[in-house]
Amino acid sequence: MQKFLTDVHTHSTFSFDGVDTLDTMLKTAHEKGVAFYGVAEHFNYDSCEAYVKELPQDIDQDGYFHKGRHLQDDYAGCMNVLIGAEFGFTFDEKAIKRYLEVYEKYRPDFVVNSIHNKDGWDYYTKKPYYTADGTLKDKKQAYGEYLQLVKQSLDAPYPYDIVAHIGYCIRYAPYDDVSITLAEFGAEIDEILKGIIQRDKILEVNSGYYGGLCLPTEEILRRYYVLGGRKLSFASDAHDAGRILDKREEIVDVLKKIGFTYIIVPCRGEHIKVEL
Ligand SMILES: [Zn+2]
Ligand SMILES: [Zn+2]
Repeated sequence: MQKFLTDVHTHSTFSFDGVDTLDTMLKTAHEKGVAFYGVAEHFNYDSCEAYVKELPQDIDQDGYFHKGRHLQDDYAGCMNVLIGAEFGFTFDEKAIKRYLEVYEKYRPDFVVNSIHNKDGWDYYTKKPYYTADGTLKDKKQAYGEYLQLVKQSLDAPYPYDIVAHIGYCIRYAPYDDVSITLAEFGAEIDEILKGIIQRDKILEVNSGYYGGLCLPTEEILRRYYVLGGRKLSFASDAHDAGRILDKREEIVDVLKKIGFTYIIVPCRGEHIKVEL
């Protein structure tokens, strides 16, 4: 096992919210010395129509995979570029069919499975924190619903490798104390972590969170380790070139302190171990 810089799960302007082009992202990643660079553009077919009307979320699938595969070839020998996808989990059958079609047609190098939405509404819109009549749910209910979705997403009917940014619900939470702790949600979190381990999936450590070091939190990462979880991926979830590898060193220090010795890079079904 060798030491390499990895950043698996990033975006470019192929995603509706990406800032820099794929060319710029790859050029910067290469300059920063990244050895394994994974692109996981948003396939947000879980967004409800109402939300789609507010934000254009449809990705140019052909354009992305065509360009991505070309750039992958261009960088061959100097940087391992992985052309992946981020699927927003949903129970909607039409959306699931689209994910399966994307998988069959383009064979992404890896798939990130994410909960962004509840009932088609991104937590970003804050709607999942409120009941239909506009009453604010208490944290126990709102986070409980989110964690239930994460648990259900583990049995997604499409192939995936990575369970992304657990704790996403805290990013936009309208509570004085937004923390998601084992004291409050230990049973739900344990079920998810055990589910990841049993299914041989990879738990993502996502540095794209400003209320703390990463998602999931250090407490949850520690619990994963105690339960026997060893497969982690590192993701800046960068939407602009400046954030590639963001907070990686700090996060690696924390992971080593917990006991982790390697990080995983998923590529076409293979789990490549890279020393931390
Ligand atoms: Zn995401
Ligand atoms: Zn993402």
